[in-house]
Amino acid sequence: MIDYSNFAFPKNARVKNKKLIENKKHKCEFCGKEKCYTNTHHIKSKGSGGNDVEDNLIELCGNCHRLVHDGIIKKDELLKIIKGRRKRNGK
Ligand SMILES: [Zn+2]
Ligand SMILES: [Zn+2]
Repeated sequence: MIDYSNFAFPKNARVKNKKLIENKKHKCEFCGKEKCYTNTHHIKSKGSGGNDVEDNLIELCGNCHRLVHDGIIKKDELLKIIKGRRKRNGK
């Protein structure tokens, strides 16, 4: 299998929310890999009305991002992470 962990996903440049870009953690929220190149993935694509809001964005390493777009990692699993993130923040 090809290692996509440092694979720059071309669609990444679409995030326009500056605050979110500055907060980029370089940590994959799915597999927990740190200090890697991460892509901001829109859970709901911009094409279907998704926005640059935190609840719609998730940082993924190249590998996980690929798996999401290939449909191997399901949207439900990403939503679970978003939910857990909210809990951690105590919101
Ligand atoms: Zn990952
Ligand atoms: Zn994506």
